[in-house]
Amino acid sequence: MKAPILLSAPVFDGREHEYIQKALNTGFIATNGSFIPKFERKLASRLKTHQVSVVNSGTSALHLSLILAGVSKGDEVICQSFTFCASANPILYLGAVPIFVDSEAETWNICPEILEDTILSRLSKGKKPKAVVVVDLFGMPSKYEDILKIANRYGITVIEDAAEAVGSTYHGRPCGVFGNIGVFSFNGNKIITTGGGGAIVSSDTEVLAKAKFLSMQAREDFHYYEHNEVGYNYRMNNMAAGIGLAQIDKLDQKISKRRSIFQRYQEMLGNCNGISFLEEPDGVFCNRWLTNILIDEEVTGFSNDDIRKRLLEMKIESRFLWKPLHMQPVFLDFPYYGGNVCSSLFYKGLCLPSSENLSLDEQEMIVKVILKQYKVKRSIRI
Ligand SMILES: *Cc1c(COP(=O)(O)O)cnc(C)c1O
Repeated sequence: MKAPILLSAPVFDGREHEYIQKALNTGFIATNGSFIPKFERKLASRLKTHQVSVVNSGTSALHLSLILAGVSKGDEVICQSFTFCASANPILYLGAVPIFVDSEAETWNICPEILEDTILSRLSKGKKPKAVVVVDLFGMPSKYEDILKIANRYGITVIEDAAEAVGSTYHGRPCGVFGNIGVFSFNGNKIITTGGGGAIVSSDTEVLAKAKFLSMQAREDFHYYEHNEVGYNYRMNNMAAGIGLAQIDKLDQKISKRRSIFQRYQEMLGNCNGISFLEEPDGVFCNRWLTNILIDEEVTGFSNDDIRKRLLEMKIESRFLWKPLHMQPVFLDFPYYGGNVCSSLFYKGLCLPSSENLSLDEQEMIVKVILKQYKVKRSIRI
């Protein structure tokens, strides 16, 4: 039986096995061990101006970031609606209130104009938002030039959810460094993985020291266990860090493979009426974690779900884009500012298989399934 084609499968073609073996052999399998600081330094060296503290997931990195930003019960936190639930769940962990904002069409990320309208509207209600969670969705950097100006104008902390954007750059600077605090994820299907893992990014060594402290149960520097505040068991373990260290050595290779996959899809489908791609704006380098297409059903005669089903019949995994959070039952009670930019991305979009080891044959097969739909629909209409 033919193996299924997955959306985004991890590839371990570096020193992952060697490092895991070493962690097991030396017994350093938990939160002590040399791979952890080594992985942190490797990550930081890519960021140049910033340092990192690694944790056990992107979600815990976001949780700690909000705590470090001073978010607490009853505070309002603005959040891009078009994202994975983990961008907003930690706001609820803290008893704070998410305020969702629509996307703009060029990057699919938070719309700067609506962001400013939202801030003004909340201020007029006497509620100053404590922070804004800006996401670099699908590896595409947000419009930081505008966003940072607005955030500075109103003195609002920016948390950059760069979970999907490891290795992407915006005007020459790496994603992760644009917020007051940045976050990465190394979950199983991200561009580099540690199994489960994440990182907190900051240029402020005190903030990072505090992040590390909180991620290790807020244990004070005593010879016995002394705790003055609530801590979390969020630190990355040494086996995970070993995998991460091996993965990051191959990051550039992984990105260039994903970018060629995107390019090939675009070459093969770019001229099809009613199918469009997320383009890179000037000065932006996207890691192309996942290739997405938008299908305009009024033009094509078929929908994203038609393609998803046809692909599934051939054991090929594809997936809708993130369903906006303001449309999710769990977040329905919270305010939303904007129109239907992000909902229409959800209704039209499809993530196509983008694993770095996707072969040309497999990719051509996927494209054929899509091209065939044009013929099917046309023959029905005639
Ligand atoms: C994956 C992801 C996260 C959460 O990361 P985990 O490591 O899975 O906890 C947060 N935000 C976005 C946009 C993500 O894609």
